[in-house]
Amino acid sequence: MFSPEVTVVGGGLAGCEAAWQLARRGIKVALVEQKPARMSPAHTTPLLAELVCSNSLRSDSPDSPAGLLKAELRRAGSLIVACADETRVPAGDALAVDRQSFSRAVTVALALDPNVRIERRPLDRIPDGPVIVAGGPLISGGLGRELRALAGDRFYFYDAIAPIVEADSIDWDRAFFGSRYDKGSVEGDYVNCPLTKSEYRAFVSAVREGKKVLPHAFEEPRYFEGCLPIEVMAERGDDVLAFGPMKPVGLDTHAYAVVQLRAENRWGSSYNLVGFQTRLTYPEQKRIFALVPALKNAEWLRFGSIHRNSYVEAWRLLGSALELKRRPEVQLAGQLTGVEGYIESTAMGLIAALFCHARLTGRALEPPPATTGFGALYRHLLRPRQPGEAFQPTNINFGLLPPLDGRAKKRERRALHAERAAAAFAPWLSAVAAA
Ligand SMILES: Cc1cc2nc3c(=O)[nH]c(=O)nc-3n(C[C@H](O)[C@H](O)[C@H](O)COP(=O)(O)OP(=O)(O)OC[C@H]3O[C@@H](n4cnc5c(N)ncnc54)[C@H](O)[C@@H]3O)c2cc1C
Repeated sequence: MFSPEVTVVGGGLAGCEAAWQLARRGIKVALVEQKPARMSPAHTTPLLAELVCSNSLRSDSPDSPAGLLKAELRRAGSLIVACADETRVPAGDALAVDRQSFSRAVTVALALDPNVRIERRPLDRIPDGPVIVAGGPLISGGLGRELRALAGDRFYFYDAIAPIVEADSIDWDRAFFGSRYDKGSVEGDYVNCPLTKSEYRAFVSAVREGKKVLPHAFEEPRYFEGCLPIEVMAERGDDVLAFGPMKPVGLDTHAYAVVQLRAENRWGSSYNLVGFQTRLTYPEQKRIFALVPALKNAEWLRFGSIHRNSYVEAWRLLGSALELKRRPEVQLAGQLTGVEGYIESTAMGLIAALFCHARLTGRALEPPPATTGFGALYRHLLRPRQPGEAFQPTNINFGLLPPLDGRAKKRERRALHAERAAAAFAPWLSAVAAA
């Protein structure tokens, strides 16, 4: 008789990866997937590991952040990336797949695995025993409600993400440090990018006219008043932004408006634009934010976005094995943990499975090193936040990695990041394999 030791809920990218990683370590897994009985508004096929939108797993170039993460996933024996490699279609340096063949390959691999039993049914409560919940951004029914009850007001249904800029690309001659009313450190915790009245007016017009990403049919554009997209504020009146996130008051400046930046990491190598959540398309963000003089030549590590998403505030709710502190036998995986994107969710399925295996076998597992893609995402989730610092989901980007020693040109920096990550990843993976 098949008696599962672990239940994985959700046969998406993270759940499939987690089930596979456990199974190849000899753990028996019940993988519970609600499709086809219940479909989320974005899923359309009965196959596991469905790619709900783009068929691209992004760049495969080893010195890009997504390439670095995929290289680590390959080394760790990822089922998702192996199936993507097998079903790849031409897409320049991106790893794009034939989506049907890809999902079929994952489904078949798991269906044929003697350590995996696929159960097709929606779950409306978290089962007992060791469980990995990987219900994804559109987690359904009672399961989502139970998770919400456990997470309280630390469970979110929408992302409102502000863009992140690389510190080196800010024009520091046109920006100044300072906190409103001198609150914070002596130097000031914010970087302020001033605009004259005419620059501000041009900026507001561009935001109004800029091309926006339309919400999906299942997304109701209901916003919190305290967290409005900049385009909604721009539409409400000429000076709404200047009295909102762009207000210059309390700062030592004659500027008409300022864009405030706050450090994204403790090294100050990247900054987010405070209050700049937006539905502007990525090319439009690049074009329009360049109207801010200090950001004219900005290099963007992440653009802003707003979309439906379920995730928890990981650093408050989860322990080091990605387990719910209030119910330690329940781990989370995938996008629910607070990462964004196909490969990031896959990585968080893989890491959850490694911790699950370590716990079941009574062994200790070191977290992945901070200089690796795995480690950078893991630390983004679990790093304690400063008062007032918001937790926002992230995809993999170099701003999450500790800065390199010494100065190097951008292209060289990327290669150095990749080299440093690979050097740290190999011994960690050997230690995982030996455990
Ligand atoms: C509309 C939309 C577009 C997106 N576009 C992109 C994109 O272009 N590129 C990109 O990288 N990322 C994109 N994402 C994000 C991407 O989908 C996720 O990062 C990724 O799929 C998350 O993996 P996951 O395993 O956590 O969740 P999923 O892949 O969503 O898997 C979750 C699984 O759990 C199942 N499930 C949910 N609730 C239950 C339940 N109660 N009982 C049993 N099973 C359940 C679901 O049916 C699903 O199969 C998009 C997301 C959405 C919603």
